[in-house]
Amino acid sequence: MSKYEVVIGLETHIELLTQSKLFCGCSAKFGGPPNTNVCPVCLGHPGVMPALNRKAAEFTVIAGLALGCKIAPLSYMDRKHYFYPDLPKAFQTSQFHHPICVGGGVTLSDGRVMRLNHIHLEEDAGKLLHERGKTLVDYNRGGVPLMEIVGEPDLRSAADAAEYLEILQGIMRTVGVSDCRMQEGSMRCDVNISLRLPGAEYGIRAEIKNLNSFVSVRQAIEYETERQSDILDAGGEVKQETRGFDAGTGETYSRRGKENSDDYRYFPEPDIIPVRITPATIARLSAQIPELPRARAARYTESFGLSEKDAALLSKYRKVAEYFDAAVAESSTGNGKSAANLMLSQMFAKISTEAEREEWSPPISAGRFGELIALADSGKINGSAAKRVLNAMWDSGKSAAEVVSELGLDGPAVDVESLCGAAIAANPSAAADFKAGKSKALQAIIGYVMKASRGKAPADEVHSVLIRLLSE
Ligand SMILES: [Zn+2]
Repeated sequence: MSKYEVVIGLETHIELLTQSKLFCGCSAKFGGPPNTNVCPVCLGHPGVMPALNRKAAEFTVIAGLALGCKIAPLSYMDRKHYFYPDLPKAFQTSQFHHPICVGGGVTLSDGRVMRLNHIHLEEDAGKLLHERGKTLVDYNRGGVPLMEIVGEPDLRSAADAAEYLEILQGIMRTVGVSDCRMQEGSMRCDVNISLRLPGAEYGIRAEIKNLNSFVSVRQAIEYETERQSDILDAGGEVKQETRGFDAGTGETYSRRGKENSDDYRYFPEPDIIPVRITPATIARLSAQIPELPRARAARYTESFGLSEKDAALLSKYRKVAEYFDAAVAESSTGNGKSAANLMLSQMFAKISTEAEREEWSPPISAGRFGELIALADSGKINGSAAKRVLNAMWDSGKSAAEVVSELGLDGPAVDVESLCGAAIAANPSAAADFKAGKSKALQAIIGYVMKASRGKAPADEVHSVLIRLLSE
């Protein structure tokens, strides 16, 4: 354990899911042949007039409301000047003095609140491609609306940072303002990191730019923690600078001395009118915010007795959660536990990637899944039969009732009590062993019951009935 405390603040860039760019009508869609989604406005030609995309401002307000920010009634765009080939205007239209959202926070699973400083709206830059000793530039991304979520230095470890980003991603996807795909660059972050002795003032920080995966964020923080503690241990001083991250080596490297905001010569953007957000607009946008993952997970643990882990998994993806809610409502018994078990054990094994879960389109509708849950909950089929039925429904597209009758799982209800009594009578030595304290001996009797009922007896009930009979 290092004697230093790690202090981390993240600046997270999130591309907004608008149809068009921030100041022109060009498509904001990811990809496409280079330089096809461009026009004089986003290429910064002389004499053009930008106009703010209303949807982008609304999405920023929605994000801010979901994160508990205050929404500024009036905010302004500013120009941030710097020269780089991916920025044809030589300034980025951003917000500096008066951003749309102020304050707010992200609550980690242990209850700590990671405060936000503000959220501002800005345009993305183009993309540079380095090929065969030449540098090419694609302006398709130039002018795509980007939200920057600026966090306070409240994070204390790589694990905190990863959890914070994951929660942020879940919230943004749930409210529908971004797909937050790190691999496509629609979510990326800059890490500000410094070390200090516990209780001391903040140390001098380094900023690691443009991390585009959870693994990179974690590795960069771990590498930087070690690099800075080596410097401090040797009596040196950490330089304030901007660093890059090499995903190949897992190391950070110096890029340039850190610039201050003065260096960017921010000034108010004269071509764009102020962004005015009325209380009526805030009320209308608040009404569009669905139940957020944290609240949903709490409801699942309370109402259905799910474990925190299971509840978090189900509420992480909006479509998964909506499917689950719909199936439970449809099942008429309202039992979330068996629906959760079947979804997490069976469906999640078939729909396994993040992207697929995000899309969530299983071949079984929520209504039909609910019918299966109802059958399982009424005791007509037991847990392992439910799994078989689910798999058959998945492959055949048939309903639960059809599959149950095809597999011969229907018929008269099983008399668990008499089956258990007969099983004990037929297995006297196992029964005696169990009574003598060998709890494993019960398995043989359970197995007998399951075989006799051809797998139809509900395992939980068999278990409790046997224990009751054997202790009489
Ligand atoms: Zn354009």
